[in-house]
Amino acid sequence: MNPDHFTTLDLDSHSNEPTHQEERPDKPEEACGVFGIYAPSEDVAKLTYFGLFALQHRGQESAGIATFEGEKVHLHKDMGLVSQVFNETILSQLPGTIGIGHNRYSTTGSSRRVNAQPAVVETRLGKLALAHNGNLVNTVQLREELVNDNINLVTTTDSEMIAYAIAQQVNAGADWQDAAIQAFHRCKGAYSLVIGTPVGIMGVRDPNGIRPLVIGTLGENPVRYVLASETCGLDIIGADYLRDVEPGEMVWITEAGMASYHWIEQPERKLCVFEMIYFARPDSLMHNETLYSYRMRLGRRLAEESPVDADIVFGVPDSGIPAAIGYSQASGITYAEGLIKNRYVGRTFIQPTQAMREQGIRMKLNPLKDVLMGKKVIIIDDSIVRGTTSRKLVKALRDAGAVEVHMRISSPPVTHPCFYGIDTDSQDQLIAARMSVAEIAEQLEVDSLAYLSWEGMLEETREDTDNFCSACFTGNYPVAIPENVKRSKLVLEKVTV
Ligand code: SF4
Repeated sequence: MNPDHFTTLDLDSHSNEPTHQEERPDKPEEACGVFGIYAPSEDVAKLTYFGLFALQHRGQESAGIATFEGEKVHLHKDMGLVSQVFNETILSQLPGTIGIGHNRYSTTGSSRRVNAQPAVVETRLGKLALAHNGNLVNTVQLREELVNDNINLVTTTDSEMIAYAIAQQVNAGADWQDAAIQAFHRCKGAYSLVIGTPVGIMGVRDPNGIRPLVIGTLGENPVRYVLASETCGLDIIGADYLRDVEPGEMVWITEAGMASYHWIEQPERKLCVFEMIYFARPDSLMHNETLYSYRMRLGRRLAEESPVDADIVFGVPDSGIPAAIGYSQASGITYAEGLIKNRYVGRTFIQPTQAMREQGIRMKLNPLKDVLMGKKVIIIDDSIVRGTTSRKLVKALRDAGAVEVHMRISSPPVTHPCFYGIDTDSQDQLIAARMSVAEIAEQLEVDSLAYLSWEGMLEETREDTDNFCSACFTGNYPVAIPENVKRSKLVLEKVTV
């Protein structure tokens, strides 16, 4: 095997690749990555492929690309990583001037091939292909309305419902833009969408802009437009970041250029703060800086808020590393690597032995004995969800000779589930919803445990602190959650909506 192949495969900066031998990763999981390009005369399938490749961390269950060659749509989607789903031959069979791509992690609808995206739907003006990142909270109502209108839904995804809601308006006589806007008014929750049509592509964010979506440009004369969940999806194909799609905005990119529609009167910014803490890649740009810088500041703040005497500090690779560097800078405690990540592990389809299972994390992370032996250590992670991995990690550090293990978390306790496209389990599985910080410390068998304050997390964004969703830390959901949806994940009496 070509080693470069594997090196580039590990673009994912996270420590949460799901593997078949684990029951479930002990991290919130991202919903999806979306990508769109309008570029006549370019190889749009290949550019979309690379865009998805850079966005692989946002979803690893399935991948799909739809291209438009005039009225004709070419579609290929399947279960697996981008590099497993596509090859040169498949990409060469996806000609066209428009490309729409999607990486999926299933938050609604089971993990089946039929649920892979883009969703392609027929209309009176030709086909549309839709890629969705986020989760609607009014799917039951929307499904009922569509079924009552005799729409035959093929999949179990909310994304297909949005596509059909648009198609319905088109078939009733509206043009693409009006049809889409009318459909968006029926959708509640989180949605960043990229939609392809025979004449152009749309990029849309919900009225709160919960999930990110950026616009890039490729070349100059003529300018080609690109849409991606994160700027890392632009960088990889050499596109320049232009700006974000605004909350409640739809951009419509055609031969005539880019037009913008602010389709809601009072959009209210509520970007998912977890995107900044953990989900998005550290080299992606948000609020005019890379997330690496924000995550380093979280570590600095954590050192100020929760100092502790120790010999070394290190992060849980890879997502805890920027905060550990920040903690080291602010505290003066030496930064060292205490854990090495197996960068080549990816997904494994071979079941480990029982003994390996008990060792737990060693498949991915291996403690460095020489660094840890006889040391008082601070380990920094970006979050704790259920606490199962953290407990194994602490044991592994002690087994490797650490004499004291202090854990610091660069976000507040996760006490509530997410309904906007992030899989954070139901509330009763969240360790911080059931236990106090002292009880969690005891459970994890650490010498001390401290989380970053909620204020610290938001103030370090250097933005208006009202501009973020932080519901999984507070239970204050910016978009009301219907009772039937709440019941699926919440221990209701604990929630303030
Ligand atoms: S609830 Fe948490 S994970 Fe979900 S959108 Fe809000 S901040 Fe993000």
